[in-house]
Amino acid sequence: MTHRRISVLPDNIANKIAAGEVIQRPASVVKELIENALDAGASSILVVVREGGRALIQVTDDGSGMDERDALASFLRHATSKIASYEDLESVSSFGFRGEALASIAAVARVTLKTRTREEESATVVKIEGGGAPAVSQEGREPGTTLIAQNLFYNVPARRKFLKSGATEFRHVYDEVQRIAISTPGIALHFISDNDTVFNLKPAPLLQRLRDVLGERRCEGLIPVEEKSETLTVHGFIGKPAFGLRSRQGQYIFLNGRFIVNRTINHAVYSAYEHLLDKGTFPFFLLFLDMDPRRVDVNVHPSKLEAKFDDEQSIYRVLSSVTRKALASVEAVPALTIEDGGIEPGTVATRFTPRQHAWPGEGTATLWSFPERQHVDQKTGEILPFIPYPGPAAGPSSGVADGGTLAGRLLGTPALKDGVTELAPGVNGAVLPHGGTRPEAGTPTLIWQLHNKYILSQIKNGLLLVDQHVAHERVLYERALARFATSMRSTQQLLFPYTLELSAPDFDLLTELLPQFDMLGFDIKPFGRHTVIIEGVPPDAHTGREGKIVEEMLALYNEYRQDNPTQVRDNLAKSYSCKSAIKAGDSLNEAEMRSLIDQLFATSMPYVCPHGRPIVLRISIEELDRRFGRTS
Ligand code: ADP
Ligand code: MG
Repeated sequence: MTHRRISVLPDNIANKIAAGEVIQRPASVVKELIENALDAGASSILVVVREGGRALIQVTDDGSGMDERDALASFLRHATSKIASYEDLESVSSFGFRGEALASIAAVARVTLKTRTREEESATVVKIEGGGAPAVSQEGREPGTTLIAQNLFYNVPARRKFLKSGATEFRHVYDEVQRIAISTPGIALHFISDNDTVFNLKPAPLLQRLRDVLGERRCEGLIPVEEKSETLTVHGFIGKPAFGLRSRQGQYIFLNGRFIVNRTINHAVYSAYEHLLDKGTFPFFLLFLDMDPRRVDVNVHPSKLEAKFDDEQSIYRVLSSVTRKALASVEAVPALTIEDGGIEPGTVATRFTPRQHAWPGEGTATLWSFPERQHVDQKTGEILPFIPYPGPAAGPSSGVADGGTLAGRLLGTPALKDGVTELAPGVNGAVLPHGGTRPEAGTPTLIWQLHNKYILSQIKNGLLLVDQHVAHERVLYERALARFATSMRSTQQLLFPYTLELSAPDFDLLTELLPQFDMLGFDIKPFGRHTVIIEGVPPDAHTGREGKIVEEMLALYNEYRQDNPTQVRDNLAKSYSCKSAIKAGDSLNEAEMRSLIDQLFATSMPYVCPHGRPIVLRISIEELDRRFGRTS
């Protein structure tokens, strides 16, 4: 190759090259132009395309408009009104900020800009062809801006050749406009393609906008989602598993109003649907995430679809738990058509299995009951499930610890002193179902334990699997919250108080948390330097492990505190339930399993553990039939 001198590329060539990055096809132009209109504060936008945008793209808005100086400047490379310094980039909340779009579009199309501010009498018209010199004139029009781009890539034959047919390009334009329509329900949006109105949307609440854009059918079976964590708010809709889609089309994530693609978030959402969707179907989801723009980098790609979070893990956690909760909040999760007819709309808990046969005398005494009301914490305003725990006289809380057998903890019946558990029918943890209605009589359901880890049972529509640890965790978690809420404290005194020596930070933490430990039912007294004496534990705690439980609770609490520093009680309830719950490996007898499952389905959220892990899975009989190749 012959040697050539270095020269700086003229702007029009540089812009042409840059255009390759920003403008892939007509749809990219449409997106940039609508985003400019939104950034200009438009409340009404008209989008017109011909031949899928190959021949013409026109976007008109009623936004701020530009005066002549800005109208000309807007076509310069890196000309933007949205950031002025590198620091501004941190907190940028507009769609654009690179100042590349108009320069790029003008480099590869015939462009006309007509724009008028509110202060001006007439509009400035700027015409540029293929990045050439602008021609300026004046014209009458309403305040706002129209940008017309014709014959995209007319001067870059190589790119023009790669454009697809009008129909295909229209498909891409349509996707782009649709996403914007969904994310900006408050803005009127009229979309015309080859003289036909594709949609003409009035400002509307989100759900209405979704119906207008996606159609009624797609909006069937949507579950609203709402969650606020310290760093992130999430709202939107997810689809019930029964409405699974044949493609990944119905998946929308908007971060601070911007459509993004993010594998972490997708994975978090997918994980919640695991085992709920048939093979080859995909969930619908539409999630709006809002967070401090400083915690996310949208600058990683010129087309700005990707976003990088500074704390992906916590985003993952929030989203997977949000989705799980939403799924659990409807009859979505294990499609619980359980023996007695399933779940009433709006309630989650259901009766697991009729118990008349197994437990004569049920109903004469219940361990606790679950009225359908909630309890508001006076101090924090936090809403807690209302679960009164038996007072000292009613439950196992009176008297001396029995060694904390599983039966004692699960069934609430003290074991006999010789360690043999006696199950007293009638006080064995029978729980009235929601609302107190007694279930219909039915056949007793078979129940098994698998590998001392999972509980299996036949349900009407297939097989139910329960993870025993997380199930118990859920039960204990709600009980702990109830204790905080009602200050109905109960303790089992230890026969042999346990002396626990802690590290200095753990000791300080425990000292700080003593009032909360006390409310949970722990009886702990400081005893000299870094040492405490445990004299009593909650009735459902595993005695014999009390030292370990307290120590492990502190460690876990410390972890949770990082994520949610203000949620003292919730963090402690989570730590407690995790550490006191029966573990994988604990063998359960039939009564214990039944009791656990009954208690589980009496909680407010039987399908998701406090950390967002699933508790219950269902394999439908259809699924089994399918797998075994049964066709009938
Ligand atoms: P960016 O949006 O990244 O700033 P653009 O090339 O898309 O870059 O636009 C350059 C500038 O032109 C914008 O910063 C804005 O000031 C102005 N502009 C573009 N479109 C419009 C519009 N529809 N209404 C008002 N001003 C606009
Ligand atoms: Mg822009």
